[in-house]
Amino acid sequence: GTAVLWFRRDLRLHDHPALLAAARDGEVLPLFVVDPALWGPSGDVRRAYLLRSLRALDADLGGRLVVEHGEPAEVVRRLAQRVGARRVHVSADAGPYGRRRDDAVATALAEDRRELVRTGTPYAIGPGTILNGSGRPFQVFTPFSRAWSEHGWPAPADPPGDVRWLGEGEGVDGRHWPAEPDLGDLTLPEAGEEAAHDRWQEFLEHGLADYGEERDRPDHDGTSQLSHALKWGELHPRTLLADLRRQRSDGARTYRTELCWRDFYADVLWNRPDSAREYYKPQLAGLRYADPGEAFTAWAQGRTGYPVVDAGMRQLRSVGWVHNRVRMIVASFLVKDLHVEWRHGAREFMHRLRDGDLASNNHGWQWVAGSGTDASPFFRVFNPVTQGQRFDPQGDYVRRYVPELRHVPGRAVHTPWDVADGYAHGYPERIVDHAHERRVALDDYARVKG
Ligand code: FAD
Repeated sequence: GTAVLWFRRDLRLHDHPALLAAARDGEVLPLFVVDPALWGPSGDVRRAYLLRSLRALDADLGGRLVVEHGEPAEVVRRLAQRVGARRVHVSADAGPYGRRRDDAVATALAEDRRELVRTGTPYAIGPGTILNGSGRPFQVFTPFSRAWSEHGWPAPADPPGDVRWLGEGEGVDGRHWPAEPDLGDLTLPEAGEEAAHDRWQEFLEHGLADYGEERDRPDHDGTSQLSHALKWGELHPRTLLADLRRQRSDGARTYRTELCWRDFYADVLWNRPDSAREYYKPQLAGLRYADPGEAFTAWAQGRTGYPVVDAGMRQLRSVGWVHNRVRMIVASFLVKDLHVEWRHGAREFMHRLRDGDLASNNHGWQWVAGSGTDASPFFRVFNPVTQGQRFDPQGDYVRRYVPELRHVPGRAVHTPWDVADGYAHGYPERIVDHAHERRVALDDYARVKG
């Protein structure tokens, strides 16, 4: 027989349970569908990365990947008919849109007595699996992470062996690749399964041991920079967890915890699909927010006059990625210093990040805004100056992204207002006074809390 393997967020050939399931059916047609509902709202950076990753996958498949454009329920049904596949195999999608789409595809296939088979997910443990003692989902990270470790993760799937691929040139002319967006000066990391594995191996050898201390240092590049690879499934977290099991360092433990955060947010979104857009803790919906006017634009362009905030937002624009510590700092600044609602920031991030991911991004923002899952209380306001001094102690990170401050040596770069020629090269003055805005935010919080 013939099966269709419809790739989505699993752009790899190893450790791929859905591929093994498809191969058991017989010949496999590899398919990717450019879905306007997802492609449309993606920013150019994410689109470009996805295209490169697809091209790498296509090369690994000997040029057989069928790329179609259109509404999945219609496209997938038509292709399954064309090749006479009884079953279409996927890795299950856990996001709100993906679940609705897959239900629609399953219904369309069922009309021809065909089946959508969901095997595996992009997570170590499938969202919705981990429940507390009373059978309910967790709402706080630490107990979730304990249950997650106790549950354990499946071992990596067997190697694919000799899959018989069907495809291009065999009756299907699916070469509807979109054009690649022009990214200007922005360079992306190399895409594809092999590049992701190389990056991981390099990190295992050179980065993991010190990861526990280094992960908070944006000036040191001490993190794995694998978020885009995990997002598109070029690597599966199972593979990483199996490698980590052989390591006994603090770094390995910390890295496992970060992978758990990724699973946790996907689990939260699974249980509360509304939390992609709505407040997870509705009590905080009553805060007063400003319209995203000029202050928002200054923030987005990296012109707030607070060096570490501006460096972060310029890193976002020039690299399509931002260090986690700095994501927290810039998010806090938007919400608590500029009083702009988290949703606007989350949208800007999704538009520009190469790893933009609904669950991690929107819950990362809600965490900062105090409306998310964990106890990051609203009243904990990040001070952009002391955060910069602490996590970028020599100022190297700021100087890398803010050329107007390159003449200021050492940590003084975080306080250009105290440096005689701090503004000599056109760096903007502070657009707000942090101490004042902090009080405004806290007063409003006290009002909402009642
Ligand atoms: P590493 O430190 O090497 O971590 C390894 C992996 O663990 C990451 O690749 C990621 O998959 C996962 N991870 C690490 N930290 C987190 C976290 N806090 N939450 C969930 N997963 C985590 N991550 C995204 O993948 N996509 C997003 O759109 C995204 N938006 C964010 C928005 C805000 C406001 C904040 C505070 C965090 C956001 N994160 C997001 C989480 C985190 O910042 C990134 O995953 C991390 O910076 C990616 O770099 P890395 O691969 O070098 O991470």
